[in-house]
Amino acid sequence: MRPWQLMVGDIKITALSDGRMSIPYRRLFPETEDAVWDGYRARFPEAFDGKGFLTNIGSFLVQTGDHTVIADTGLGPWGHLGGRFEPAELINDLRIKGIDHADIDTVFLTHLHGDHVGWNLTKEDDGYVATFPSARYLLQEADWLHFTSDEYQAKLSSARRKQAETTYLPLRDMGKLDVIRGDKDFAPGLTALHTPGHTPGHMSMLIASRNERAVLIGDIAGTPAHLTETNWLYAPDTDKELGMKSRLRVIDMAEKEKMVVLGAHMTRPGWGRLIRWEGKRYWQALEAAPDKDRASNRP
Ligand SMILES: [Zn+2]
Repeated sequence: MRPWQLMVGDIKITALSDGRMSIPYRRLFPETEDAVWDGYRARFPEAFDGKGFLTNIGSFLVQTGDHTVIADTGLGPWGHLGGRFEPAELINDLRIKGIDHADIDTVFLTHLHGDHVGWNLTKEDDGYVATFPSARYLLQEADWLHFTSDEYQAKLSSARRKQAETTYLPLRDMGKLDVIRGDKDFAPGLTALHTPGHTPGHMSMLIASRNERAVLIGDIAGTPAHLTETNWLYAPDTDKELGMKSRLRVIDMAEKEKMVVLGAHMTRPGWGRLIRWEGKRYWQALEAAPDKDRASNRP
């Protein structure tokens, strides 16, 4: 196994990344003072830079015997809107790790924020085409309705509108969209779990094979410290109360069931477990290989 791979029973997970963002503390947690982060910076130095959070833009490839699923597609060519300071690299990362776009049968979109849909489509001479030509794009109905509503679209800047038009809006007319409502088993061992709050249709993925389970949590946690501080106001949540409720529900489940946790914004490769330390719950990364060993960082 390579440092960017993990087995959950017979299911193979490959960590992918579309670069990293530098995000000031209060843009995510507006009610915190910088000093509250000192303890977390000491515990998780890899998750911080000089100004705030050093945030991975992570995707995961989930391979069962019969299905190949990519969960989230990064920021894409929209790095300047998301504060990404590294070049776009998800497409490079797929190539380096030997993954053929045509083998992917499902694009699992945890939600429709810009840093999760960026490479859904690719620009070609005569317009935009699906980056993953054989895939169905799986999405919760509540997110589709929210993000495509006239009310939501009317509030977008022209750059954000263009981003929507070149990432998710065309999916339905292209015949690529699979909208689901609530929880759903979508492949053997893989279950979509509706975990609303971050966005109305935010979803997580339960992964089960043999006697092992993992949960892919999308944006349930924005930084490793968030697994501990579940009740801090999180600015990107559409519905703050519901976001906290879903966050606690998923993290409680993961701890109780001793699941491996995969997070889009956890430090690469992005998987870990929950541990207890003096009564508090903490993220503990698994197989955190040094950056220099990671394929996604090769020039
Ligand atoms: Zn995100």
